[in-house]
Amino acid sequence: MKHYLLIGNGAAGVSAAEVIRKRDAAATITILSDEPYPMYSRPGIAYVLNGQVPPEQIIARRPSFYQQHRLDLRFVRAVGLDATRQYVDLADGTRLPYDVLLLATGASATPPPFTNSQLDGIITFDKLDDARQLLTRCRRARAAVIVGGGITAMELAEGIAHQGVKTHFLQRGGRLWPRLLNQNESDIIERQIKHEGIHLHYHQEIETALDKRGKLVGVKLKSGQQIACDIVGVAIGVKPNLGLLKGAPVQIQQGVLVGPTMQSNIPTLFAAGDTAQVYDRWTQAHCLDVLWPSAIAEGRAAGHNMVDVAHGRPPSRQYEKGSPFNAALLFGVHMTAIGRISDNQDKEALPEAGYLSRGSSHVWTAPFAATVHSAWDRQGPHSIRVTMDRGRLIGALILGYQELADPLRYLVEHEVDLAAYQQNILTAGPTLPQLIAHIWKQVGQNMDREKHG
Ligand SMILES: Cc1cc2nc3c(=O)[nH]c(=O)nc-3n(C[C@H](O)[C@H](O)[C@H](O)COP(=O)(O)OP(=O)(O)OC[C@H]3O[C@@H](n4cnc5c(N)ncnc54)[C@H](O)[C@@H]3O)c2cc1C
Repeated sequence: MKHYLLIGNGAAGVSAAEVIRKRDAAATITILSDEPYPMYSRPGIAYVLNGQVPPEQIIARRPSFYQQHRLDLRFVRAVGLDATRQYVDLADGTRLPYDVLLLATGASATPPPFTNSQLDGIITFDKLDDARQLLTRCRRARAAVIVGGGITAMELAEGIAHQGVKTHFLQRGGRLWPRLLNQNESDIIERQIKHEGIHLHYHQEIETALDKRGKLVGVKLKSGQQIACDIVGVAIGVKPNLGLLKGAPVQIQQGVLVGPTMQSNIPTLFAAGDTAQVYDRWTQAHCLDVLWPSAIAEGRAAGHNMVDVAHGRPPSRQYEKGSPFNAALLFGVHMTAIGRISDNQDKEALPEAGYLSRGSSHVWTAPFAATVHSAWDRQGPHSIRVTMDRGRLIGALILGYQELADPLRYLVEHEVDLAAYQQNILTAGPTLPQLIAHIWKQVGQNMDREKHG
């Protein structure tokens, strides 16, 4: 009987476990988590913070799921790994030997970069317990300062403001989420932020947190300005949790380098989700995706191949990384990001380089070739941006207009030949949404024709 050990009870770990159980009915499957919950939706912690759902509602797998699938879920931290002799040491002193291991430990927030950052009240936002503790803090707090440009920072600002706490939102650059949004898209979100009464400050960074007898009382900015507050939320990026691999002969860049089977350079060690750096066919580079759907797809592929390896067979499933996809609600505005829409030649996006915010992909930082062109249109609170390369859509970003999200995702993912439309798309102006809808109809008709001979 084989023993599969999965470190991580998130989207990647649990997706792998489901596939392993389907393919190996007799196996022992152990899942480790250093959080005291069955699997929950990690993006869902934002909805807990803003009061839209109670914590129980983001639980994605009930205890009965683990029983039915005979998954031995243990709430204990892995503290050591010997990838050569194939065992893991746990914080409770247990040593667990394994046949095949999955590292699916996720990612954690980058620590605050300013001085005096150890004060109580300076928080990051990674876990359900972080949302719970923050809700308690918000009951007593009068003002909060949030720093960061990405999705977690926006969700922190929105959630804390919803709890009735006066909220200041600091941006290092001159627009929101510069790695993803252009100036016009940032303006649309900015309008909503102001509408919610949040104080938005551009070109501001914290120099130090201020305390009075050890208690957080505010922040001093690099500009010299001071803001009084009892909470400082820091969401300036995340890094994969790779501490267990210290000293192990595992190939790592920003994440664990895995091949198309999710296998690392050590055949019995796989990685998936936020920890894995996966080959991307569009940019022809190994990329990190800090994205929920990527974690699920990678976990499934890893699970499939772990069974092959455990039974002495070569891994049989080639995983092809899809184009990055994120659908999120930013201050009430629906946003969908598909494929490649940003370019690291964009000067405003550069200050963020070097780390990834949650809901992001490394793919977004790859430089564009000279053959890439974009078209963009905005109508009130809606906007649409598409990026084309040699007759194919390679990316799209939509605010509002959600009926176009699935068509655009299909056109990008399937690299549909749109050469005949490229010129029209790039010059469509305000008719761009209608043109995309029209193209989608034509593509659908062609697909029907092909299906029915
Ligand atoms: C606030 C927020 C908003 C987000 N928004 C989006 C979004 O809009 N769109 C999107 O696609 N993605 C979003 N994400 C990112 C998404 O949640 C992650 O990409 C996804 O959860 C990654 O899954 P994973 O399985 O790799 O890791 P995780 O879900 O992080 O799971 C890691 C697991 O490893 C366990 N673990 C870690 N270290 C150890 C150890 N040493 N021993 C034992 N167990 C350990 C943890 O307990 C946990 O169970 C968001 C995340 C957050 C926090």
